Amino acid sequence: MKKGISPVFAAWFVLAGTVVGAAPQTLAAPSQAFKTPAEECLFTGYTQHEDVARFLGSLAAASANLAVRVVGGTREARGYPSQDLYLCVLTESGVRSPEKLDRSRPTILILASQHGNEQSPKEAALGFIRDLAVGELRPWLRRANFLVMPQCNPHGNLSDRRPNEQDLDMNRDHVKLESGGAAAIHRVFRAWMPEATLDMHEKGDDYYRVSLGCVSNINIAPEIQVFSRRVVLDEVRRALAKKNITFGEYVVRDEMGMNTATGAALPSDMLRGRETLLRYSTVEINDGRNSLGIYQTLSFIMECASRHDLPTLRERTSWQAWGLRFWAESVVGRGEEILAMVNRLRKEERERAGTYFEDDVIHLRMDYKRDPSVLQVVRKRFEAPPSQARGILRVDKKAGETVTASDLEPFPYAGRMKVVEETVKNWFPLVSSRLTVPRPLGYVIPSDKAQVVENLLRHGIGVGLFTRDAALSVEAYFVTDIEPSDIDWLPPERIEAEKRKIPVLARKGDFYASCDQPGATLIPLLLEPQSQFGLICYGRFDLVPKKGEFFSVWRVVEDRALPLAAYKNFLR
Ligand SMILES: [Zn+2]
Repeated sequence: MKKGISPVFAAWFVLAGTVVGAAPQTLAAPSQAFKTPAEECLFTGYTQHEDVARFLGSLAAASANLAVRVVGGTREARGYPSQDLYLCVLTESGVRSPEKLDRSRPTILILASQHGNEQSPKEAALGFIRDLAVGELRPWLRRANFLVMPQCNPHGNLSDRRPNEQDLDMNRDHVKLESGGAAAIHRVFRAWMPEATLDMHEKGDDYYRVSLGCVSNINIAPEIQVFSRRVVLDEVRRALAKKNITFGEYVVRDEMGMNTATGAALPSDMLRGRETLLRYSTVEINDGRNSLGIYQTLSFIMECASRHDLPTLRERTSWQAWGLRFWAESVVGRGEEILAMVNRLRKEERERAGTYFEDDVIHLRMDYKRDPSVLQVVRKRFEAPPSQARGILRVDKKAGETVTASDLEPFPYAGRMKVVEETVKNWFPLVSSRLTVPRPLGYVIPSDKAQVVENLLRHGIGVGLFTRDAALSVEAYFVTDIEPSDIDWLPPERIEAEKRKIPVLARKGDFYASCDQPGATLIPLLLEPQSQFGLICYGRFDLVPKKGEFFSVWRVVEDRALPLAAYKNFLR
């Protein structure tokens, strides 16, 4: 869910769903010998990290199809020790490492509960792991490999808070990778290179119980978005309708002229009084969907309705479980098509990146825009009748006695809510490019930008080290005008730069990032000074240039051998 926006506006959903207020659906329990911790306690508590470890341990002992790996860790904070982060590898042959993976079938990565107060994705993911390992979904392992990280933010789950133990919003950390959790996700992604990913979240108490969002950054091949929307979302919508669960594509309300999606702490007076627009989910690449989609991955976010309270945990977990199951069923069913499409797009990208040509452009800045043929949309939402009581008393109260929030039990979902339709006139479903640059062959990074290089390594990007001085002809940006942002996590307010071809000396000890590798689109987005998504947005990388200076990272567009050795090419 989006941060800092009132719940009413937090998420809006477009496609019409079906029935509201139906009885909670529960999945048929496939193997009751292995109840998830939440099923065990009848959903009276949130599953904590120790319970996750115990559950996965006993499941792995019982299933030759499941291997559990430690793929990273959290930090010690506030008396809570550092914790291992787990990856569940579910395959037909019980593979334990990426080298052994059968790549003739698609590999599917599922991430749950990056946001600690969004508990039901984790509960549903644990049930899904069980169903694949010992239950009724085992036959799917003949057609696909599954990777599941069921608990990405243990400290957030413990404290029932959105951020992690460093107070970082993990789902805005996928560019800078400061959190152990986001770094682990990218380590897993780069090691296993899945073709499809799903990042599971909770939104507010919304009419559309299950929502899925597709990739929206236009550097990702348009056919991925089209396939996601027309095939996968449509199949999930139809499957959920049979269960009487309302579905709508994930959309977000934004203040017009503002980008509220970066995670930057925007002052409220910047937002107040602005007209709003409705759009699909963000084009930013610092989330868990576009940041994996940028590798030409069929990547999704799922957002299910939630009141974030225990009495509704069972019900919201069931929405997550059905959404996850039907999404996975669609991806498994379309496995051959997806594998062929993603393999082809990744190969084509590498081929383009290996040779420099002006038409191979990267979109550095983009805007949401209207679709002239669909100027407005109708969406449904709940509306409480004016006379609605606030809840059900759980204790006896006499007339005149004070009633506090803790005396009240919430109404069951949608109990007395009215469903109303609303026409939204500022509908911005499309994305247009505002600035492009040809993809260079690679970038020279000066030796004093160690933080930048460490970040690239965290993304799994191979970096070369100049082993001797080398005279080069490069493209360097001469900055003619700049107004830095005074808010961290945002690009400069204004940056004008001329690209100049100049002779330079790359020094022994400088670094080189070639674009001819996986991440061929990510690398320019991180390193170009005019990228709205780049490392320049974050103060810690110290990349903001001054007017009248050259930007410190140079573009190489001429193909010649460079004196390089792989830098920190260590086994991890
Ligand atoms: Zn979330």
